[in-house]
Amino acid sequence: MTTLDEAFAEAECFAHIAHEFAEYAATVNAAWRELWANHCPVCHGWGTKSLWDYCDAMPAEICRRCGSAGIAPDGSYSPCRYCGWWYDDGVPVT
Ligand SMILES: [Zn+2]
Ligand SMILES: [Zn+2]
Repeated sequence: MTTLDEAFAEAECFAHIAHEFAEYAATVNAAWRELWANHCPVCHGWGTKSLWDYCDAMPAEICRRCGSAGIAPDGSYSPCRYCGWWYDDGVPVT
C-alpha cells in the first residue's frame, strides 16, 4: 500500500518532470522562433491547421516557415526556394 509520504514524493517527481519538460519546450521553441521570426502565427510554421487542412492564413506562395514568397503558388511539389521548407517543420513543441 502506498503511504501518503510516498504519494507526495511521487507527485513531486511528476511535477519535476513536467517542469523540466516545460523548460525544455520553452528553450527549444524560443530558439526556433528566433531562427524563423517570420513564420505563420496561425499554423506556427507547420502549414496545416489539422492533418488534412492546409493553413490559408497567408497567400499560397508564402513559405509558412521563413515568410518569403518561395512556394510555387500552383501547389506543384516545390519546397520553399529560400529555406527548403515543405510542410515539414514548425514550432517544435506545442
Ligand atoms: Zn499558417
Ligand atoms: Zn521558406
